[in-house]
Amino acid sequence: MTPGTPRFDVPLAEAWIRAIAAAVEQERSRLTELDSAIGDGDHGSNLQRGFTAALTALDGLRPADPGAVLTKTGTTLISKVGGASGPLYGKAFRAIGAALPEPADPTALAEALSAGLDAVRLLGKAEPGDKTIVDAWTPAVAAFRAAAAAGAALPEAAAAAAAAAEQGAHDTVPLQARKGRASYLGERSIGHQDPGATSTALIFRTLAETLTT
Ligand code: ADP
Ligand code: MG
Repeated sequence: MTPGTPRFDVPLAEAWIRAIAAAVEQERSRLTELDSAIGDGDHGSNLQRGFTAALTALDGLRPADPGAVLTKTGTTLISKVGGASGPLYGKAFRAIGAALPEPADPTALAEALSAGLDAVRLLGKAEPGDKTIVDAWTPAVAAFRAAAAAGAALPEAAAAAAAAAEQGAHDTVPLQARKGRASYLGERSIGHQDPGATSTALIFRTLAETLTT
């Protein structure tokens, strides 16, 4: 890697998780409102509890590599978050952690993020278009991969993924939920942005910001 290019190392992995925790804190009421419209209103507090616990868990960790930071985060989310999003994001972070080589070039990080998506889909069985986390994570991985294949550095590839995730989250508005609590509403889930797709957009935005600063 050329000097000046950010490395996805242990401090950067920790900074990403801290940035997610801060973003969740900042956007908690929005996530709660979205989940109140088509769920049970706990998505903001679920994620806040999970990522706050992850920060505490990381405090006591001496991670051997950046993958260990993400694996610990995932394990903590699974154990601390009762809602559907805890196991889904938990499995995702564990899968990213397990797949992440060090050093990770843009293609390797794209593949690790893709392993995260696979884990969400394996557990939750959602397809694109079901109005879930998958609807933001899928275009984000595609954009990350495409940017990496075109020779983009980590910050640019992550910025492309963040924009795609944001768009994917917006694009859930007209969809009818077919998985999770919102699916109980049937057609009444139409017209609202999915909370999980929205938090996935936060996760990718904070990755881009962390790689840029
Ligand atoms: P709960 O639904 O148990 O209250 P949360 O409110 O924390 O959990 O999370 C809700 C979000 O979880 C939804 O907005 C949706 O994006 C996501 N979700 C629910 N079920 C699935 C699934 N099977 N696959 C992927 N994402 C899902
Ligand atoms: Mg909920």
